[in-house]
Amino acid sequence: MSGPRKLFVKSFGCQMNVYDSHRMADTLAPEGFVETDAPEGADLVILNTCHIREKAAEKMYSELGRMRKLKQEAAHEGRKVLIAVAGCVAQAEGQEIIRRAPAVDLVVGPQSYHRLPHLVARAAGERAAGERIVDTEFPVEDKFDFLASPSREKTRARGVSAFITVQEGCDKFCTFCVVPYTRGAQVSRPVDKIIAEASRLADAGVREVTLIGQNVNAYHGEGPDGRAWTLGRLLHRVADIDGLARIRYTTSHPCDVDDSLIAAHRDLAELMPYLHLPLQSGADRILAAMNRRHTRADYLRVVDRMRAARADLALSSDFIVGFPGETEQDFRATVDVVEDIGYAGAFSFKYSPRPGTPAATMRQVPEEMKAERLHRLQAAINRQRAAFNAACQGRTLDVLLDKPGKRAGQLVGRSPYLQPVQIMAPASRVGEIVAVRITEIGSNSLFGTLASAATPGAPAAAERSAMPVLAAQGA
Ligand code: SAM
Ligand code: SF4
Repeated sequence: MSGPRKLFVKSFGCQMNVYDSHRMADTLAPEGFVETDAPEGADLVILNTCHIREKAAEKMYSELGRMRKLKQEAAHEGRKVLIAVAGCVAQAEGQEIIRRAPAVDLVVGPQSYHRLPHLVARAAGERAAGERIVDTEFPVEDKFDFLASPSREKTRARGVSAFITVQEGCDKFCTFCVVPYTRGAQVSRPVDKIIAEASRLADAGVREVTLIGQNVNAYHGEGPDGRAWTLGRLLHRVADIDGLARIRYTTSHPCDVDDSLIAAHRDLAELMPYLHLPLQSGADRILAAMNRRHTRADYLRVVDRMRAARADLALSSDFIVGFPGETEQDFRATVDVVEDIGYAGAFSFKYSPRPGTPAATMRQVPEEMKAERLHRLQAAINRQRAAFNAACQGRTLDVLLDKPGKRAGQLVGRSPYLQPVQIMAPASRVGEIVAVRITEIGSNSLFGTLASAATPGAPAAAERSAMPVLAAQGA
């Protein structure tokens, strides 16, 4: 093939998949693939899939049905379209996808997508001979060493906030979770490679980076001194990079919060005061059955230490309802802990049995009971979120302006607490951190007016002590 070819990548699931999708596109760019934002007319379609819950995996199969039709229509026009399935469903189901979905040409796992140029070339040739490819190996080479970097223009076009994968895989084996099987053992990238990537992003105009990993605070990458660095130490180093005003990290496990991470929250103005720290359940019995390796009291101790280090810290979490064996009393313990802690927001899910995980064979909670509990938990979480947002009314928050809003002349940005904030400001101000006085609280965003120019970085010291700590307010 010659000339530019169109590539459509669709990401399902977590931020790690969003990051991987960008890197797939970057790696195919030197092969002449240009990204397009619609599947119609694409020469190569990649579905970058998620396997964490059954619903997420089902989405992939329904999307594949749509892509098969596009492929057939293209064939009538004499155009050949390749369809690739990447990500965690690819890893978990491999050959099964090839069997179930005849339109798929290529299945590639999360650890081997750096081979895409070669695999796509093979699929394009081999398809004529009727062969289809599955590559779900965990190769010995580090995929990051083989991935191409995007141009400055491409990086900037993706926005002023960017993700960087610093850690992958997980060794925790929570009994409900597929990650250790689909993403493999815990691996950390070396410090110098992360710093090079973060510096490249900053040079291109990125103002905020989120360091991501399935278990990000278990980070133990090799530092320039040859020793294993903690996430706290890495955050200090990233904060030194010129141009980067904001740093975040996700997702953390409560057992891996160490002194260096708490110190980073105390010392680094660039580290946003917002921590996603999943608890999953408020009942010790269920936490043990989940193999979470900590109790509710351990979690509360971590929260206390974090809040002591940074008074304006806001928290979010993940919860699973209807885990096998969960009683009404266990469930109430979860609602209680939500009320005690005072989250700024949280994700909650019905337990979804995943093939091959220990909990899938345990005694299951009926579906209607899960749905009813989810409804109650979400009501409690929504009350917390509303109280947190309401406490922002009349305050001045630093907002990183990241894109135009829906209305003409409007820009949308993010507060330190990841709340979307809408203001009227010219498009030229995208990328700036501005002080915004919050005048109105909407259901999904906050609205405000420009206060005055803010210094790039975290909220001002006065703001830090003024932010709400919901538990203290008994919200
Ligand atoms: N590593 C993170 C941690 O330990 O908290 C979580 C990573 S996982 C990709 C994101 C969230 O999905 C989990 O925190 C959990 O709440 C949810 N999850 C994972 N497996 C699930 C399952 N089988 N059913 C329902 N929710 C699940
Ligand atoms: Fe899954 Fe997170 Fe548990 Fe690892 S720590 S097994 S990623 S839920």
